[in-house]
Amino acid sequence: MSGDTNYAATPFDHAKADIILRSSDNINFRVFKLFLSLASPFFETLFDIPQPAEESRDQEVEDGLVVIPVMEDSKTLDALLRFCYPCTLAEDPNIEVLKDAMDILEAARKYSLDAIEKKARQAIANPKILEAEPLRCFAIAHRGRLQEETLLAARYTLTQPLIPSWFQEIELLTATDLLSLLTYHKKCGDAVFALKLDLSWVTSHYGSSEACSWLSGYYYDSRSPNSRSCGCQKSSTPRCALFNPSATLQWWEDFMEETFTALRDKPCKETVKATADKTVQTVKARNCQVCSPKITEGMRDFVDLFSRKIDETVSQIELELSF
Ligand SMILES: [Zn+2]
Repeated sequence: MSGDTNYAATPFDHAKADIILRSSDNINFRVFKLFLSLASPFFETLFDIPQPAEESRDQEVEDGLVVIPVMEDSKTLDALLRFCYPCTLAEDPNIEVLKDAMDILEAARKYSLDAIEKKARQAIANPKILEAEPLRCFAIAHRGRLQEETLLAARYTLTQPLIPSWFQEIELLTATDLLSLLTYHKKCGDAVFALKLDLSWVTSHYGSSEACSWLSGYYYDSRSPNSRSCGCQKSSTPRCALFNPSATLQWWEDFMEETFTALRDKPCKETVKATADKTVQTVKARNCQVCSPKITEGMRDFVDLFSRKIDETVSQIELELSF
């Protein structure tokens, strides 16, 4: 009987396990009843069914343990068991596990295995996974009808280009779902881009040019009663001037232009952070004695402001998607 049976990988190969679950593709999972019972009333009930005291014709025993055949294949069973096990024994499920777990989530719902659904939700709402693979998370969460997590993942997809590269789980989405996501992304990009047309959200934050002297290029010269301008180039056609258009520095203008263009494709704070870091490096490399010492801190504060504004803008855009 056990000729074609294979054994599951750790931690489902434990010598002291007290039961064997056998997947539909004949893999033996040596598991602890206690962990599974605590995680799932389904297993609790299953294990409560009295086991025959001795080997009966229906009950297979291997290595002294009762074998319970299950309908799920080994991939799905592995995912389910990882959700059930304490995280010290089985690592947090990664996205591969998560995808497989969606099949079992469907079944779990039928049996009201709330604990497993909760764990799936927690796993998909893990910022590390969302940051790394937002589109896959979106597709998986939507397939699992996890509404809150789908909306959260959609938000994270804004860190990706409007037209994404192919990803495996794209097959889980219908054309209508994908159109909804692209429309949402486009609307967010347009709304964030519109912040360029009226920069009062920047000027009202600073209040005066003195409050943002790090981007004015002016400095105080003790030999002359007036402040003087640094050597950085001024913009001849300022579009993103704040207080004094004629004093707008070219590096600020370039930074704002580049940022807004990039935001249209990826309307998220990561975009601002990236162009800001680049600008800080460029200005520092030019070694302006006025701009260089102040730009790092000034830019950090501006990125915070910009990020909050993007969050505020994007949170008003609705993802129109049915579940
Ligand atoms: Zn300068």
